Amino acid sequence: MIHKKTDRPLFSLEVFPPKKTATIDTIYQTLDELSDVKPDFISVTFGAGGSVSNSTSISIASTIKEKYGIESVAHMPCIYMTKQDAANMLDELEKNGIDNILALRGDINPDIEPVYDFRHASDLVTFINEKGGFNVIGACYPETHLEAASPAEDIKNLKYKVECGCNELISQLFFDNNHFYSFLERCDIAGISVPVEAGIMPVTNKRQIERMTKMCGASLPEKFRRILDRYEFNDNALRDAGIAYAIDQMTDLIAHGVDGIHLYTMNDPYVAKRIYSAIENILNA
Ligand code: FAD
Repeated sequence: MIHKKTDRPLFSLEVFPPKKTATIDTIYQTLDELSDVKPDFISVTFGAGGSVSNSTSISIASTIKEKYGIESVAHMPCIYMTKQDAANMLDELEKNGIDNILALRGDINPDIEPVYDFRHASDLVTFINEKGGFNVIGACYPETHLEAASPAEDIKNLKYKVECGCNELISQLFFDNNHFYSFLERCDIAGISVPVEAGIMPVTNKRQIERMTKMCGASLPEKFRRILDRYEFNDNALRDAGIAYAIDQMTDLIAHGVDGIHLYTMNDPYVAKRIYSAIENILNA
């Protein structure tokens, strides 16, 4: 478990493999530029629909560990995997020395029929733990997963996923910390006691945020909407306001004793560096 290794809040980054149109080197330029940031781990996404092969994600996760000396986490969405695909991926991860997996169901593409060897992330959590040898992490949703019948059902399902063997959780992005605090309370009442990292995404442009909130259901508080409305046509001002907003959110989370912060970097080292330098002393206080 990554959380055991530190008694201050964890700080981690998420990167994604370059799009098909870019070369793999672009991610290494990003990682080089992130060398001033000292994350406890970097996680690497993997598109469930298979836009980039899992070997790209695995190779990036392996390089993060080998070349940059930083713990890495491989995302593993299972909805389009057969059990054999999953077993093959676990073998690859093992060969590449990757110990940590974010076990995910993955988003369902309405145009592609799922495989259904795994229906829920919890099925994959069980599968990985049957093989053994990996630290398994799960995803969670402070504002409730979009498909869940109710917040209570979502928490019940999350509890089951944790019982299947998730050692820690990483949350979906949110812009109002109160959602996160009340989610933690619901977890507590349900008896979910593993560490939960708060997912924070700094906003750098209006289109990106509108797409993300539509996809993941995160609500936009009035304070945040005002920033978007006022600065939407001024790239630098919107970026700076987005960074300031994320720093404010993180400062409040750390003051509340959060277990950790997971920064969705959008592969933008400039933004990640500015945020890290602003919160470094607060994180380590
Ligand atoms: P699950 O835990 O399976 O939950 C999905 C839904 O099913 C929820 O509504 C839940 O309440 C319900 N459910 C769960 N178990 C049961 C059960 N036993 N019975 C009935 N209902 C149940 N997607 C990618 O494709 N690639 C990535 O790299 C990626 N990275 C992510 C990183 C983070 C930190 C997060 C928060 C999400 C990420 N996603 C990624 C998106 C994720 O795949 C989607 O949000 C997906 O819709 C749900 O995945 P899950 O693992 O949370 O699913």
